[in-house]
Amino acid sequence: MSEDRTGNDENAEYELDLEVIVVGGGPVGMLLARELRIARVGAVVLERLPERTPHSKAFGLHARSLESLDRRGMLGRFREGARSWNNGHFAGLDEWVDFSALDSTHAYALLSEQTRTERLLEERAVDVGAEIRRGHEVTAVRQDADGVEADVTGPDGGYTLRAKYLVGCDGGRSLVRGAAGIGFPGTGGRVTARLGDVILADRENAPMGMERTERGLLFCVPLDDTYHRVSTFDFEAARDPGEELTLEELTASLREVWGGDLGAHSPRWLSAFTDSACQADRYREGRILIAGDAAHTHFPVGGQGVNLGLQDAFNLGWKLAAAVHGWAPEGLLDSYDRERQAPARKVLANTRAQIALMNPDPYVTPLRELFTDLMRKDQVNLYLAEMLSGVTVRYALPGPEHRLLGDFARDLELRTDEGKSLLPEYLKRGTGLLLDLAGRPEVGEAYDEWAGGVRWAGRLRHVRAECDQEPGLAGLLVRPDGHVAWAADRDASGPELREGLSTAVATWFGTV
Ligand SMILES: Cc1cc2nc3c(=O)[nH]c(=O)nc-3n(C[C@H](O)[C@H](O)[C@H](O)COP(=O)(O)OP(=O)(O)OC[C@H]3O[C@@H](n4cnc5c(N)ncnc54)[C@H](O)[C@@H]3O)c2cc1C
Repeated sequence: MSEDRTGNDENAEYELDLEVIVVGGGPVGMLLARELRIARVGAVVLERLPERTPHSKAFGLHARSLESLDRRGMLGRFREGARSWNNGHFAGLDEWVDFSALDSTHAYALLSEQTRTERLLEERAVDVGAEIRRGHEVTAVRQDADGVEADVTGPDGGYTLRAKYLVGCDGGRSLVRGAAGIGFPGTGGRVTARLGDVILADRENAPMGMERTERGLLFCVPLDDTYHRVSTFDFEAARDPGEELTLEELTASLREVWGGDLGAHSPRWLSAFTDSACQADRYREGRILIAGDAAHTHFPVGGQGVNLGLQDAFNLGWKLAAAVHGWAPEGLLDSYDRERQAPARKVLANTRAQIALMNPDPYVTPLRELFTDLMRKDQVNLYLAEMLSGVTVRYALPGPEHRLLGDFARDLELRTDEGKSLLPEYLKRGTGLLLDLAGRPEVGEAYDEWAGGVRWAGRLRHVRAECDQEPGLAGLLVRPDGHVAWAADRDASGPELREGLSTAVATWFGTV
């Protein structure tokens, strides 16, 4: 028997008052706006660029991002026409990290340039009614006990917007973070990267991938039939971070690091950045929150920044919606900071470790060789694949101990009266999911007691199903972001099961 009592009205209008201002329309801001809208929150994205940037920083999406996009029914669009690959690099070592060993339905990385990722996320946000204001720059932010205000300069002049909450998704130099008084401690830049999307006259002799020389590193990959992306990593010469990179500086750096400039010319994008790695000391100050690069920045080795930021948005969206709708249990919104600090700390640490291994100092070479040998061991290789793809992120959640508590719910195959489907199908609308797997009456009773017998709109669905992959499980409570908030085995005692579930439902979904 199956049951689905979400009470969601698929035809509901998305006309809502402004409740959340999202500053910054990069990938994180766009995804957050969509998460808020599917939770029936009125959200506007203020983006200072009048047009979407044509330059891609990031190239791809890792397994955890793909799993999460799948749980919102968005993965199909991301996969359409996009190549995937099984290997990644760690610190530019000769041995590749093998993503196909991951225990995931999506054991690969998807090639999706950041411009494409941003466009797809923007389209999905607009589809559900998010308002995107391009060419609107936030110049000041302040808050009081009841709300938050942003001063905005738009194409037609200045204005002030007021809402209940504001989220800074405005990148590493976040104005919002500064205005909220949130600290951003970390390590300063010691490595200078110079990046150019250029045409190489000497295309035939261009190296492929990452090359370490005695004077630094060169990253070189073809972007299309005409352009290459070249980046030099210079471990010695510091430069003024505010200064624009010129083609002359890039070619000089190529000659220094690589011994030749490969005939680089006609740049369509030039950018310089450092390995400075910083993390906000808190992600929330009252009614102001930050996410993505506004909360953490690091050197882009391993392609982790977008992925980390998208997980911030998946974690924050439903909690902020609960606060806006007034049903957020105590501490729900603060759990965003608590849960998302640790994954960012780990990413900063692994990027610092990679930089250390990439150092051209000959004393580092034996360490690289040793590490390369270690990577040939399946366990080490898997460890790195899991780390880079984010699939081992597990939150320390309260509740009765269980091997699945805090983990990301797998793609379980579920049999209901309506047929077979995978678990991600049930998370598409951004609600929580209570999976009733063993027909233990306490599960349904706890749900009914919580829901008060009413069809409840949009917070938690109750589904009865069978699952051969987890024959020992009585049930699972899955949060909208896909993490398990409660799990119990079939042989749990009745009172234990009932109480654990009731507490978990109240902790994450409040009272009706
Ligand atoms: C060279 C390079 C390569 C990278 N490669 C990868 C990779 O392969 N994989 C990966 O996962 N990550 C990669 N990253 C990191 C990734 O690009 C960032 O982590 C990502 O862009 C963060 O997204 P975001 O939405 O938080 O911020 P951003 O993308 O920085 O977006 C912030 C937005 O806010 C807007 N904004 C800023 N201030 C204001 C304001 N006051 N008012 C209104 N709008 C404002 C900006 O215009 C911008 O559009 C790379 C980074 C670099 C530099």
